[in-house]
Amino acid sequence: MNTPIVAAIGMGANLGHPAQTLSQAAQALQAISAKPIEMSRIYRSAPIGPAGQPDYANAVALIHTLQTPLDLLDQLQAIELQFGRTRSIRWGARSLDLDLLLFGEQQIQHERLTVPHIELLNRNFVLWPLAEVMPSIILSDGITIEAHCQQIGREGLSLWLDSSQLDPKPDDEDHQPPLR
Ligand code: ATP
Ligand code: CA
Ligand code: CA
Repeated sequence: MNTPIVAAIGMGANLGHPAQTLSQAAQALQAISAKPIEMSRIYRSAPIGPAGQPDYANAVALIHTLQTPLDLLDQLQAIELQFGRTRSIRWGARSLDLDLLLFGEQQIQHERLTVPHIELLNRNFVLWPLAEVMPSIILSDGITIEAHCQQIGREGLSLWLDSSQLDPKPDDEDHQPPLR
C-alpha cells in the first residue's frame, strides 16, 4: 500500500462566520484524509486585496493524502464550492479559500498548481499557523520556519480567539451578544 503524503492546507475565510466556517471545513478535510488531521489555532488577519473587506480567519491544517496533487486540488476546490465559494474578484471576499501550501517535499509547476504555494514565504497569516503544525520544517529556501516567522513579524495578525474560538451561532445572534 502507498504511504500517505502529508499536505499542508492554508485555510482562509472572511464572509459569514469565518471561524465557524474553518472549524467545519476542518471536518471536510478530515473526510478526505487517510489519518487524523492536525489544525493550528485560528488567526485573525487584516485583508489583502480590495479595500473594505472584513478581517480574515486563517488557519493551517495537515492532512494525509493518497491522491495526486491535482486530484487533491480538485478535492479542495470541491470543498470550497460546498461552502458557497464563488470565484469573482481576485483576492475579493470569500466564504472559504483552501490553498495547497506544501505537498510532502514536492515542487510542482503546473498551470493549475504551484507548490510550495507561491506566496507562502510572504504571508505572516500562513507562516505563523504553519509553524504551529510543522514547527521544525525547513522551507524550500533552506531556512527554518521559525526564522521566517521572526523575520516577517506579526503585523495585522492576532489570534481569533477573544472569548470563544467560534462565532456566535446564528440562533444565538439576536439573544446573546458574544462575551467581551
Ligand atoms: P492566492 O493564490 O494569492 O492565495 P487566491 O487563493 O485568492 O489567491 P484563487 O482564486 O483561490 O486564488 O485560486 C486561483 C487559482 O490558483 C486556482 O484556480 C488554482 O488553479 C491556482 N493555484 C495555483 N497554485 C495553487 C495552490 N498551491 N493552491 C491552490 N490553488 C493554486
Ligand atoms: Ca489564497
Ligand atoms: Ca486559493
